Amino acid sequence: MIFTQINKAAALLSAGTPNDEQLKKINALSKSPLAAEEVYCFSMRLCDNLPDRDFECFDERALPALAALFIGKTGICDHEWSANRQVARIFDTQVLRDGDLHFVQASAYMLRTDKNADLIAEIEGGIKKEVSVGCAMAEMTCSICGKPYGTCMHQKGVGYDGKICIAILSAPTDAYEFSFVAVPAQREAGVLKAMKGGLYMSLEEYVQKAGSPAQKEDYRALARDAALGRARREELVKEVVSMGLILDFGATETVLRAAAQALDHAQLSELHKAMEQKTAALFPPKSQLSASHAGEVLDSAFLI
Ligand SMILES: [Zn+2]
Repeated sequence: MIFTQINKAAALLSAGTPNDEQLKKINALSKSPLAAEEVYCFSMRLCDNLPDRDFECFDERALPALAALFIGKTGICDHEWSANRQVARIFDTQVLRDGDLHFVQASAYMLRTDKNADLIAEIEGGIKKEVSVGCAMAEMTCSICGKPYGTCMHQKGVGYDGKICIAILSAPTDAYEFSFVAVPAQREAGVLKAMKGGLYMSLEEYVQKAGSPAQKEDYRALARDAALGRARREELVKEVVSMGLILDFGATETVLRAAAQALDHAQLSELHKAMEQKTAALFPPKSQLSASHAGEVLDSAFLI
């Protein structure tokens, strides 16, 4: 199987006029010789061995072959694939390493024409600073068990014994065009991609992976409130069970507990209130006890 629709976000690095060595490589690809001032060149980080938002990463051993496949590939604007949108071309690639990070860096050029002036200005101004790349890979491997991804039980993005499953892409067969992506659109696309990956994650995992510091703090606050809510709910269930035993419905503690737990919070509160009133009416002295206190007494007095 070949995974033909692999599109990844990549980053635009430096830009400017080519040096002699770069110009030589550009002229090896161009139809007619170009002078340095006619050319605008820039570099991009295309593919790396870091897991992305889709929980996929490139096998670092696949990067050299991928780098070779990208030479001569053209760049377009926002995935509009037509001849007149082919604005740039990759003339050089290399695999670089920064600690454990391995990545393909590509150098591309475009002509300084009137037609390209706006795009060059946008790159210079930092508006167009991200690119999306496409390639085809023949193999996808599960990072947990090493089997071909999809043939095992593991799902990318899901944690197994504290390790998140990643699909490792290898055996590149082709590289396609790259696209300039305006930053706002890319941010939006980025969010969508994160949500796709997030389908396989718990909310906590998702926030931990993709959330901002403020979102992580919000999540912690919500988790604290939820813990308080769960504790209060457990108290209500306990009291409803105790009062159910006092009122002697004939139901066992297990049945009372299961019934109370099946109710939503409003129903549980309503039942609790009704039982409290009934208990108070039937057993006036015991109504002086708080329900949870009564529960403790009853646990020993009424349980069989
Ligand atoms: Zn697996």
